[in-house]
Amino acid sequence: MLGTDEILEKSVNKWKDTFPIIGQIIDYRPVFWLNEGLEPVAGALQRLPIAYEEMLDAERRLQRFAPLLVKLFPETWSKAGMIESELTAVDNMKVLLQQYYNQDFQGRLLLKCDNALPVAGSIKARGGIYEVLKHAEDLVLSKGWLKETDDYAKLAEPSFRDFFAQYSLAVGSTGNLGLSIGIMGAALGFKVTVHMSADAKAWKKSLLRSRGVNVVEYASDYSKAVEEGRKQSMLDPASYFVDDEHSKNLFLGYSVAALRLRKQLAEQSITVNEEHPLFAYLPCGVGGAPGGICFGLKQVFGDNVHVFFVEPTHSPCMLLGVMTGAHDSVSVQDFGMDNITEADGLAVGRASGFVGKVVEHLLSGIYTVDDRELNKLLAMMQDSEGIKIEPSATPGLLGPILLQQSPEAAVYLEKHRLMDRMQNAVHLAWATGGLFVPDAMMQEFYQKGKQNM
Ligand SMILES: *Cc1c(COP(=O)(O)O)cnc(C)c1O
Repeated sequence: MLGTDEILEKSVNKWKDTFPIIGQIIDYRPVFWLNEGLEPVAGALQRLPIAYEEMLDAERRLQRFAPLLVKLFPETWSKAGMIESELTAVDNMKVLLQQYYNQDFQGRLLLKCDNALPVAGSIKARGGIYEVLKHAEDLVLSKGWLKETDDYAKLAEPSFRDFFAQYSLAVGSTGNLGLSIGIMGAALGFKVTVHMSADAKAWKKSLLRSRGVNVVEYASDYSKAVEEGRKQSMLDPASYFVDDEHSKNLFLGYSVAALRLRKQLAEQSITVNEEHPLFAYLPCGVGGAPGGICFGLKQVFGDNVHVFFVEPTHSPCMLLGVMTGAHDSVSVQDFGMDNITEADGLAVGRASGFVGKVVEHLLSGIYTVDDRELNKLLAMMQDSEGIKIEPSATPGLLGPILLQQSPEAAVYLEKHRLMDRMQNAVHLAWATGGLFVPDAMMQEFYQKGKQNM
């Protein structure tokens, strides 16, 4: 599609002229990029093709399904069938971070523990499971076999399972989305095919196969797995493709996290307002999860939340897409980068254009993190708090350090008159996965982290 040394008819040098930071990005050096496209929510949210009401609708749908989830996944019983994670202060981690990086920061450090989300073990439990449930609901509502006021637990009955078994679900994934769609889809009775990129870990494939999911493996990266999955699914009218690059339902499923967070903050008497800014640091792969949550956070907290995405230095696809405005027309490979990272959940070379366009006026910035930091952060989190998170779930923890350290961030804090409000700051690192990682593998990550410290 593109010439070997031209990207959208521009040479790399030309791109560097326009965006000097591209030089550092191509050299895999960590960057802290500020989004000059950030706008006040008043205008930015209004122009979007997604509305607050749709988030509320998604939340109501999840409530309707709660009785079914309790039945299918008893581990959701304690939260009455809502798939939700704890919000927890990680004071010891704050102390350790400040020591290790030799950088103090004010305010509190909170962890959103999606690493422990039940059923799928990662942030994908939000979007992925929501989309499967929405599709299942559409199918039975259209048959007239269910009313919204019914007890949805009846969908676990054999007659419904037999019905769902006539339909297929397909998805392309680096691993965790496949787990989420596969586990939920199979539990309802759907035939599920997961197209896995080369990054996907063997244990994720075997877990899915043990649930009767058809796993197709590819030697290439995520974009290829998605493309093949989409193509094959199109050939079968009974197949529904969960499109990580374009799906609004997936996005809405992720976005409800913000409604839940608002409640959790209130329960813990943590205020967010102009005097008490909230900084959220969200690991980003293709963009659906952090994008949906960013949208939700902006709806709920308006201009008082400052959202930063974080990507591996080898896979900064959202950074390249949003910064250049070229979105999914460019990939990290176009810029000669390899998209190879230990953070399998973030190993995406081409970001979602749909998400990029939604967040381009909401996002405060994007920073990148070297792979070596991921396992170190993983080890530090385990040592200080006893919390186990996977490499992809760690880089948000560097946010408060970088916000204090980098000259670019100082410009941001100055511009938004945040400098003398930082003692009231709430730093929220979003931990995105980890629950299902086998112990031996977690131990290996931990050892690698310790060795590098
Ligand atoms: C998928 C994933 C992300 C990022 O979500 P995207 O929707 O791909 O941007 C972050 N962390 C983990 C552990 C993931 O699995």
